[in-house]
Amino acid sequence: MLIFKTIGELTDYLTVRGETDLGFVPTMGALHDGHGSLVRYSVTQHACTICSIYVNPAQFNDAKDYTAYPKTPERDLDFLKSWGCNLVLMPETTLDLSDIKPFNDFDNLNSILEAPDRPGHFEGVCKIVEYLLLSIKPIKAYFGKKDYQQIAVIRRLIEIRKLNVELIECPTCREPSGLAMSSRNRRLNAQGLILAAQIPKLILQAYSQVKQLGYTETERVIKQMCDNLNISLHYAEFRCQSNLNRVTIHTPISETIFLIACTIQGVRLIDNMTANEAIAK
Ligand code: AMP
Repeated sequence: MLIFKTIGELTDYLTVRGETDLGFVPTMGALHDGHGSLVRYSVTQHACTICSIYVNPAQFNDAKDYTAYPKTPERDLDFLKSWGCNLVLMPETTLDLSDIKPFNDFDNLNSILEAPDRPGHFEGVCKIVEYLLLSIKPIKAYFGKKDYQQIAVIRRLIEIRKLNVELIECPTCREPSGLAMSSRNRRLNAQGLILAAQIPKLILQAYSQVKQLGYTETERVIKQMCDNLNISLHYAEFRCQSNLNRVTIHTPISETIFLIACTIQGVRLIDNMTANEAIAK
């Protein structure tokens, strides 16, 4: 496994080697098995898998959140090696993204769910993703469904900017407790982890009640349960899987996704399940 500290060194290497069968997994490091599932999947599909580790300041609206973002570079490299990753991009300095034209054709995606709470977040995500895709030119890029809205945004970015890459969506990996794996989980103490494990249970609860109660009442019940648990909730909503629009009474349950965001011990956590995923649990 080779490690590159600058994008120029990586792209020079790719050019010299004539390597084109590239799978790419962008991450912010503090890696866990959720990242591992993306890397391992890419490894089965491509001659060469590249993982980037870069905490992109442009996508953090909260400076404290950026500073507190966990960093475990040596452990990350050990993980990547064990997962079969070939090349790692680990920039040591802030990347200059000024050549990338800001993306602002989000349709509804930059005004719902995560977006109002995190102004500038998706603009920052689009900048770094477009920059990396244009530089590395992978055939496929792998993203986790845990960040469902991010996938929708990147799908739109790829379509509108006509980026020549296939987006591969990978399922959410969970802890034995059901909690979605996340780099942020390591900022929770034992009590926080127990509380956070309620999040997937709330989603399952929503799907177990929705047929009987309907969308609006179920959302209200889940909000009430969060209050009772002292979980500071940002949203807990049924949305259409295809475009993340609000559901109506006519939306079939099978076409919905339930998304939740909350803060526990000062740590913002998100999770989601589609109706099918919830039924399978
Ligand atoms: P991050 O390092 O948090 O930016 O995540 C890098 C990639 O890993 C994104 O595509 C995430 O959606 C994905 N990812 C993060 N957590 C998980 C998880 N628990 N299961 C699957 N993919 C994940």
